[in-house]
Amino acid sequence: MSTTDILEIPEKKATETATMRAVVFRGPNQIGIEKVAIPRPGPGEVVIRLTLTTICGTDVHILKGEYPVKPGLVIGHEPVGVIHELGVGVTGYAVGDRVLVGAITPCGQCSYCLSGDWAQCGGPIGGWKFGNTINGAQAEYLLVPSAQANLAKIPEDLTDEQVVLLADVASTGISAAESGEVKIGDTVAVFAQGPIGLCAAAGAKLKGAGLIIAVESDPIRAEMAKRMGADIVIDHTKTDAVAEIRRLTGGTGVDVAIEALGAQTTFESALRALRAGGTLSSLGVYSGKLSVPLEPFASGLGDHKIVTTLCPGGKERMRRLMELVRHGRLDLRPLLTHTFPLDRIVEAYDLFSHRREGVIKVAIRP
Ligand SMILES: [Zn+2]
Ligand SMILES: [Zn+2]
Repeated sequence: MSTTDILEIPEKKATETATMRAVVFRGPNQIGIEKVAIPRPGPGEVVIRLTLTTICGTDVHILKGEYPVKPGLVIGHEPVGVIHELGVGVTGYAVGDRVLVGAITPCGQCSYCLSGDWAQCGGPIGGWKFGNTINGAQAEYLLVPSAQANLAKIPEDLTDEQVVLLADVASTGISAAESGEVKIGDTVAVFAQGPIGLCAAAGAKLKGAGLIIAVESDPIRAEMAKRMGADIVIDHTKTDAVAEIRRLTGGTGVDVAIEALGAQTTFESALRALRAGGTLSSLGVYSGKLSVPLEPFASGLGDHKIVTTLCPGGKERMRRLMELVRHGRLDLRPLLTHTFPLDRIVEAYDLFSHRREGVIKVAIRP
């Protein structure tokens, strides 16, 4: 580079829009880093400078065109960062505060939120805004809506790596045990040990389950399941998982069966593994049609409960999850198997979506 080149670089004018790098969805199998404007916060909003994020299975569905979002959207919904700019009306926060924001950002004011259904803010799945209906977290900066309800300050003694997975997979996985109302001493089966299923096993342990049975064929994930709280891991490709679960429970079936894949087969197996009066706690995202087999459902007379949960969000949820990490009850760092800079995120998507190199979750550093 010559001196002339340097001299020719124009001075940034105050009116010029500052830009950032962000992962933009252009259409099925078309994502890449683009330069877009750094957002500015309106009333009640905050812009954070992201320091860590990750890729979710849902982002892969978006990439493949299996979950529709509008072209031009910045994707990603798992943000850790530092407050960059505060909008008017946001109190109790300062520029420079480290914050964790849930994948789900409830407004805290609509009828759904005030009924306690935070994730359904404004209507079905309405709490999921980042990388779905508004620009998301795979970027250098992120606009956080309803900031007062959604910015959770990160305690000084916690690192970004310790909290990033709380935004989505941990909140979702643990919620399966909460929605399933796991009681002390319950027997719980978790079908599929992807990132969310692994967190569901951790959730069952946190809720006091007596026996946790995980169903998973991948040996790396099976090993991780034990680390996260599973007592027994059944390889369903080698054993009839339902028969084995029934054998382990003296023919009764489990108190709570958690479905963490989103497929007809696992949903059905979860129901078949359940005791009469038990709860099927479903986390999977299903497509097409889902049907209920009548025999394990006792033709509708078995007092079974089927519950579904979308990731709980909001700052209080994040604060509570961070308390679990802070006091040594939950450690999600083993799940972060790989780290990539934002510039190499396309590579990270490839690795994550093809489950290469034993990947479970990838940390993305903007
Ligand atoms: Zn997600
Ligand atoms: Zn709301």
